[in-house]
Amino acid sequence: MRAYNFSAGPAILPEEVLKEAAAELVDYQGTGMSIMEMSHRGKDYSAVHDECIANIKELLNIPEGYSVLFMTGGASTQFPLIPMNLLGEGETADYTNSGAWAKKAIQEAQMLGNVNIAADCGKEIPTRVPTIDELQLTDGAAYLHITSNETISGAQWKEFPEHDCLIADMSSDILSRPLDVSKFGLIYAGAQKNLGPAGITLVIIKDELAEKCPDTVPTIFRYKTHIENNSLYNTVPTFPVYMLCLVTRWLKAQGGLEGMQKINEAKAAKLYDLFDSSDFYNGTAVKEFRSTMNVTWRLPTEELEAEFIAEAAKQNLKTLKGHRSVGGIRASIYNAFPTEGIDALIAFMKEFEAKHS
Ligand SMILES: *Cc1c(COP(=O)(O)O)cnc(C)c1O
Repeated sequence: MRAYNFSAGPAILPEEVLKEAAAELVDYQGTGMSIMEMSHRGKDYSAVHDECIANIKELLNIPEGYSVLFMTGGASTQFPLIPMNLLGEGETADYTNSGAWAKKAIQEAQMLGNVNIAADCGKEIPTRVPTIDELQLTDGAAYLHITSNETISGAQWKEFPEHDCLIADMSSDILSRPLDVSKFGLIYAGAQKNLGPAGITLVIIKDELAEKCPDTVPTIFRYKTHIENNSLYNTVPTFPVYMLCLVTRWLKAQGGLEGMQKINEAKAAKLYDLFDSSDFYNGTAVKEFRSTMNVTWRLPTEELEAEFIAEAAKQNLKTLKGHRSVGGIRASIYNAFPTEGIDALIAFMKEFEAKHS
C-alpha cells in the first residue's frame, strides 16, 4: 500500500510516474539499457532532455530570451552562485527575509557582496512573507531576491513585486500555479519538493543577465556556461531529468498549471477551513499568506502534537512532524499529493479533536 506521505522533501511523486519509470527501468523502450546507463549525449537521452525543457517552457509559457537549465548542488548552491554571477563590484542586492530559507540565501550573499534587507519578518509568529508595500528597496540594486514559499513556516507570496531583476527561490512551489515568467530575472528550485527526485536544480534565467558574470568566476559556476551548452557542459544527472520529464507530462495531463492550481487550492482549503472552525488546531501562518504547499499548525500542547503524529502514522498518514527548528505539525501537500490523502487526514483530525478536547 502507498503511504499518504506528507514529507517536505524529498517528497511524494505521482504514482503513475513511479509506475511508468519502474516499467521501463531495466529496458528503456527496447534499447536493452536503462536510461541511467546511456550517454548523456546519445539520441535517446537527448530526446528526453529536450522534451523536458520544452514541456517546462510550455507549462510556464516562458517567453523568448529565457533559458531553462538543469544544474546541480541543490537550491543551496544557487544561494552563492546568484551573487557570484549577478552582484557586481560596488553594487547592492536587496533580499527579503521571510524565514529559514531566505535567511540562508542572505547569509551566502553577505559573504560575497553588499546586501540590503528590504523587509524582515523572518522571526514573526504567526508566520508570513513581506507585503509589497513594506519593501525598502535600494535604488539601482543588482536584483531583489525573494523566497516564494517558505517551506518550514508555511507562508507564501501570493503576488510578486515589480522589479528590474526579480529573483525567486521557488524550491517548494515551482509549477504549482501559473506564473508570469517575464516578471523575473531568475527563478530556481531544487527538484525534490515539487518536481522530481533529488539531484537536479531547475533554473530559469533571462539570458542577458548571464552576460554580467565576471571573468574570475570558474567556468562550471557561470550561468552562461550552462546556457551555451544546453545544460550539457558536463554530465547532467540524467535519471532525475528523465523523472522530471515524466512529471511534466503528468502535469500537462492535470490541465497544466491552471488545472494544478485549482487542485492545489482546493486541497489546501480543506485544511484551512478546518483550522478556521476549530479552537483545537491553530494554523501557524497569517491567513492571507497561507501556503498551498506546506500547511503548518499547532495543537494545544507539545504532548498532544507528539501523540497526533504517532497516531496519524498508524493510519498511514506519514511524516507530519513539523521541521525540527519549529516543531508543530506540517503537511506538505505538493502537486503529487492526492486529494484522498487530505480527506483521510481531515477525518483523522476530526476524530482526534473529538477524543482530546
Ligand atoms: C528545501 C529548500 C531549499 C534547499 O534545497 P536543497 O536542494 O536541499 O539545497 C532552499 N530553499 C527552499 C525554499 C527550500 O524549500
